[in-house]
Amino acid sequence: MKSEEATFLPLKGDGGSVIICAHVNPDGDAIGSALALKHILERKGKQATVIVPNIFPDFLKWLPGADAILVFTNAKHKDQIKTAISEAELVIVCDLNQPNRLAALEQDIMESKAPRILIDHHLDPMRDFCQTVFSEPDMCATGEVICHLLREAGELDSITLDEATCLYTAMMCDTGAFSFNSNRPVIYEYISHLLARGIDKDQIYRNVFYTATEGRLRLQGYLLYAGMKVLHDRHTAIITLTNEERRRFKIKNGDTEGFVNIPLTILGMRLSIFINEDTEHPGTMKLSLRSVGDFPCDQMASRFFGGGGHKNASGGKLQCTMNEAVEKVMAAINHYTDMLK
Ligand code: 5GP
Ligand code: MN
Repeated sequence: MKSEEATFLPLKGDGGSVIICAHVNPDGDAIGSALALKHILERKGKQATVIVPNIFPDFLKWLPGADAILVFTNAKHKDQIKTAISEAELVIVCDLNQPNRLAALEQDIMESKAPRILIDHHLDPMRDFCQTVFSEPDMCATGEVICHLLREAGELDSITLDEATCLYTAMMCDTGAFSFNSNRPVIYEYISHLLARGIDKDQIYRNVFYTATEGRLRLQGYLLYAGMKVLHDRHTAIITLTNEERRRFKIKNGDTEGFVNIPLTILGMRLSIFINEDTEHPGTMKLSLRSVGDFPCDQMASRFFGGGGHKNASGGKLQCTMNEAVEKVMAAINHYTDMLK
């Protein structure tokens, strides 16, 4: 345990408000963890507001509390966000390891006078931007870090159904429904506790994974048929998606979630790279990397794509055309040829 505090959330008395924020392009762990923290804090008599830098996928909107999430890029939320940040007595930053992952929210959060707590599971956290750091890179999700902190504080048995639902969703999303990065037995001890609180894990699975739109399904077929390049000698696949293609299939941002994992179902594949033109910033190419086994996606992302992440799941960005991005990806793959062969 590398955490600098032994107790979970150093809260003083009742009342007061807390901001909980998560990373740009929030995923199931970011939203699930942030909402779990919100419910925990509200149970403890605090007012808690979840703020995210930009929109989150529709398949997370059923989560308890999701309708109250404030989105920085939503003009209608701007005033509420400014007020909430200025009134906060505490800021909790979750599921990210450096402040630039807050994107457009970074400046307001960093300028806030309120103390900051980091709760995260990414490698190499930048420790000095928060006064208190709960960083557990061996854990499968920020949701697991929260379970761990709750258990250490003797509170795991007191959590509510809503808290349990959010925590399960967080861990399920960051482990591909417990299909990777999920061999540590303690994860299943936590799940056993969450089941005892009444979560419906089968329904949660359906809510997250069985909610495709027709456009998403057709786009998936199209990309696998026409948009995927397989480098058999390097056990690597590349998928590209431009905004023009996205428009053709009437696809929104989160609708491509999970596509990057599909090529890894080809027997022997070690690395999958998805190059996705950014809907909000045309001309920016967002890269998602996934690997199986020892291939270090995080190293490739930080060395070639200005990003980072975990060994088996990382991401980054390039400012260029799609063709140039493919060239840069090929150069990165060439650099790692020996490891991929
Ligand atoms: P995704 O492919 O789902 O967008 O991102 C996978 C993981 O890679 C994220 O959980 C995050 O840890 C990391 N990641 C994605 N994009 C970036 C980025 O631009 N910078 C950094 N440092 N990490 C990223
Ligand atoms: Mn995570």
